Amino acid sequence: MIGYLPLGRDEIEYGLNLCIQTSGMERPLRATKKTAKHFDTILASVFWWEQLWMLHNWIGDARPRRLLVGGFNSFNPVPLAEMAEAVFVGDGEGMLARFIAGDEMPWVYRKGAASVRWRDAEMHAVPNVTGSVMRCEVVRGCPYRCAFCSVSHLKTYRRAPAAEVMAAIHGCGQKRASLFGPEPGTHPQNGVFSEACAARGINRIDSDARVDLFLRGKGQQFRRPRFGIEGFSERLRASCGKKISNEDLLNVIRSLISNGQKAAIFMLIFDLPGETEADYTEFCDVISQMGDIPGAKEFTLFLQPVAFMPSPFTPWEREAIRVDINFRDVWMGLRKKISVANKMRIVPRFYISSPAKRVMSMIATRAGAEFPAIAERTRRLRLWSIQGREESGGQTRIVSSGSLRAWDMALTPWGGIERYCGRRDGANPWDVVHVEGRGVSTRSFRSAT
Ligand code: SF4
Repeated sequence: MIGYLPLGRDEIEYGLNLCIQTSGMERPLRATKKTAKHFDTILASVFWWEQLWMLHNWIGDARPRRLLVGGFNSFNPVPLAEMAEAVFVGDGEGMLARFIAGDEMPWVYRKGAASVRWRDAEMHAVPNVTGSVMRCEVVRGCPYRCAFCSVSHLKTYRRAPAAEVMAAIHGCGQKRASLFGPEPGTHPQNGVFSEACAARGINRIDSDARVDLFLRGKGQQFRRPRFGIEGFSERLRASCGKKISNEDLLNVIRSLISNGQKAAIFMLIFDLPGETEADYTEFCDVISQMGDIPGAKEFTLFLQPVAFMPSPFTPWEREAIRVDINFRDVWMGLRKKISVANKMRIVPRFYISSPAKRVMSMIATRAGAEFPAIAERTRRLRLWSIQGREESGGQTRIVSSGSLRAWDMALTPWGGIERYCGRRDGANPWDVVHVEGRGVSTRSFRSAT
């Protein structure tokens, strides 16, 4: 009997469902800590860094007989292989069936192996309903190359065949659909998909838009578009590969207002390499100018910052993060400056991790085979906790409860916080993954083989 581990989700997630559907398997049952022992095999998909900690926590209590893991975090399979029998690296379509049939595949990593290949499968549109939403991936990977983004450096850019996406739309029995991907606007038929959804009374709820496509009139006309602005200044945006000028930002707002749209979301990243106070000042000035655009009074701008995490395989994979600065406090100060006296309604959201939680994210990203030992030690010291009701399907999230100093002391055997959050030299655990020359880490793979 096969089960799956939800890892904080309410329902089986899209990627895992894709693996199951394309392997021709029955939908597995949800496993809990109490029922784990009744399953022959348990499947888990680790997408977010937090789920690595959750997985460790869950295994300690549930002791599954056989665990198979995949998901985006398989970009560093070394810590996962310490906890699972096998790690499926990259796209998992069809892999489960082959694995269970005993097929040896170059994309399956096991503890101690010297190398593994990242898999890019042929892409098809596979609709999946969760809640009341039909989800269908329309692009995978990204043709752009932002310096912080592992999606574009890991995955080959692919698009689902338009006819298959149209069939998914025509077969959709829901009122809401998400036709998603890192940049769905790069699918040449994206506008056609929107029209097809509208004609069938389906509300398209994905909202990612690119500033350049939008300004060229090629962007998706969402009710509330979400733009990845990333850097606080022109200089920072250019440094990560997003050449969005301040004038572009003003033009986006002008254009939205003149189209009669009422709101937009700007996503930002704190702590990009080289960020200074001057970058924040520049951003505040631009936001203030937006407030003077005619019609701004009726417009709402949501600002949604997160904190930078150097991702494996990207040009910035070796960069440091500044955990000595609490960017939650920085944002609190900035949001006052931004909102005061602005005619436009500004809604600053709060998605920035605490410094201790950022340390946890870096350990989950950069640790190798030592991860379970770190997780065990820091759990025993009560430096982190999982809140929520995992067993009953409630939201589960990690809350770091230890101070930075406590974390540093606990990490002493492995080199302290600096080892995981400082600038990195030497080999990476994820160098075992060969990504066909795309990610920067493959340099060390190539030189070693
Ligand atoms: S941040 Fe967006 S545009 Fe940039 S590479 Fe990643 S997915 Fe593409």
